[in-house]
Amino acid sequence: MTDPTCIFCKIAAGQIPARKAWEDTEVIAFHDIRPVAPVHVLIIPRRHIATLYDATAADEALLGRMLSLAPRIAREQGATDGFRTIVNTGRVGRQEVPHVHIHVIGGPDPLGPMIVVRKDS
Ligand code: 5GP
Ligand code: ZN
Repeated sequence: MTDPTCIFCKIAAGQIPARKAWEDTEVIAFHDIRPVAPVHVLIIPRRHIATLYDATAADEALLGRMLSLAPRIAREQGATDGFRTIVNTGRVGRQEVPHVHIHVIGGPDPLGPMIVVRKDS
């Protein structure tokens, strides 16, 4: 199932170019267009699932597979001493692209703090 308006579905279908880091029948991974660290790859299911809220029990194996690919892809891309995985969800999570994706972020140097603490919190 694909969403014709979804940019990540288009990347999965090869209709929009992306620098791929992984590809199989269920999952693809590609470099983020606006990397925040030397390694910044997005792992997505080929099938359109808008957000983690929309994933069901039937998606458990797929989500597990995506997460278990993260260390392999991180290593292959040169993040050999640690990395961070992030899944932004919905408005509060500030998810920009409504097609589930795992950010894999790393590089030679330690990353910044996970969340910037607001002054008022
Ligand atoms: P989100 O905020 O939804 O968790 O993250 C979406 C990510 O997708 C952002 O980091 C953004 O840079 C990336 N992105 C958006 N459009 C494209 C695109 O067309 N190609 C690639 N490679 N990355 C994209
Ligand atoms: Zn999609």
